[in-house]
Amino acid sequence: MSFPSEIDVAIIGAGAAGLGAAHALKRSGLSVIMLEARDRVGGRGHTVMASPEVTFDLGCGWLHSADQNAFVKIAEALDFQIDRKLPPWRERAWGKAFPPGDRDDFIRALDEFFERLEQAAKDGVDHSASLYLESGNRWNPMIDAISSYINGCETDSLSILDFDAYEDSNINWRVRRGYGALMTAYGASLPLAFNCAVALINHSAKRLRIETSQGTLTADKAIITVPTNLIADEAVRFFPALPDKVEAARGLPLGLADKVMLALDEPELLPVDGNLRGATMRTEMGTYHLRPFGQPCIEGFFGGRFAQQLEDAGDGAIAAHSIDEIVAFLGSDFRRKLRPLMESRWAHDPFARGSYSHALPGHAGKRAVLATPVDNRLFFAGEATSPNFFSTAHGAHDSGVRAAKEVMAAR
Ligand SMILES: Cc1cc2nc3c(=O)[nH]c(=O)nc-3n(C[C@H](O)[C@H](O)[C@H](O)COP(=O)(O)OP(=O)(O)OC[C@H]3O[C@@H](n4cnc5c(N)ncnc54)[C@H](O)[C@@H]3O)c2cc1C
Repeated sequence: MSFPSEIDVAIIGAGAAGLGAAHALKRSGLSVIMLEARDRVGGRGHTVMASPEVTFDLGCGWLHSADQNAFVKIAEALDFQIDRKLPPWRERAWGKAFPPGDRDDFIRALDEFFERLEQAAKDGVDHSASLYLESGNRWNPMIDAISSYINGCETDSLSILDFDAYEDSNINWRVRRGYGALMTAYGASLPLAFNCAVALINHSAKRLRIETSQGTLTADKAIITVPTNLIADEAVRFFPALPDKVEAARGLPLGLADKVMLALDEPELLPVDGNLRGATMRTEMGTYHLRPFGQPCIEGFFGGRFAQQLEDAGDGAIAAHSIDEIVAFLGSDFRRKLRPLMESRWAHDPFARGSYSHALPGHAGKRAVLATPVDNRLFFAGEATSPNFFSTAHGAHDSGVRAAKEVMAAR
């Protein structure tokens, strides 16, 4: 679509939220365009071929709460095969690095910690989750590692009320061709301007004036779906300023999760879809998905401060660390069997600046503040605005649909 000078509804960002909003507005009779800073759709959903044999989701990969996830129906409609096998992280541990006795002990400690958070949240008073770590428990560092995978941050930065609000049906499926590839297909028919970074939304006059890297357009309404860190850093600005939105976004920063893909020679030595982790007693550890979909590879996952440290160490640091860790678990023979293919660097990505949002202690209410429309013409979507499915792609999608309904109701 050529860049218009005026439009009814401008959607800022073509990630899951923007795509959900644009689809929901399709038959509204309104003219709509998505303004996307990148040269692709999907945002934090991005599938690449890491090698000719290995499909790699650099961002989201799991259809969490699959029984309530809009992308399941979308995948079925677009003929994308869904893999319904159990995820590796809980039920499919493999190897001697984390002996079954230790593992059971750890799972017990983790479940008891989650139970304490749930009980504490009933009081309705927000605290940092780290307050509920049991003093002296040997598994505390690993509980922090798990928090960094789930939330992108360690327990000291995590609001208990926000964590408690998250809904998870514990049904987790995957898209064989990739979650990002599914988003690309879902976005194929939508009106889009690529390489179109929005810098300023001027809402001082009757029509919005939206300044972008492709020029200025006017719009009646806008749906803003950019990640919270861009609002918090004022990379996307408003005039007049919206200090409540900036403050809300600062209370909901994107934590960090990064992935690495390693090619694996002699894959038959390892089980398909197993999980490898060591009882390292450290927070600075990876978790490894062996041979996802039976592919000849290992996918590593890192979170929180350790992921940031590895990203800051430069390109290749995540792969180098992963190979060292896997070799320590499986033996030195594995060094020659593993080869780096690709790794993500979400904190260094200018249009994401992190991976998924969490509320800082004391800021659990900020999702509702961020989601509230301004003057019935600025509408806010994106995973961080989802009340219960935040941090996920389906939560983002549903927030876009919600914002589209608000737009239609405001006509
Ligand atoms: C490593 C990793 C693993 C994950 N795993 C899962 C998972 O397994 N399951 C799951 O459900 N979720 C997962 N997530 C989270 C999920 O990817 C996100 O919650 C979801 O994709 C966010 O969608 P969104 O539309 O809210 O934001 P985004 O996808 O970030 O979309 C926002 C869009 O706005 C664009 N944009 C930014 N700035 C501007 C600007 N100035 N002008 C115009 N456009 C701009 C961006 O380029 C982007 O395309 C993961 C994320 C990461 C990073």
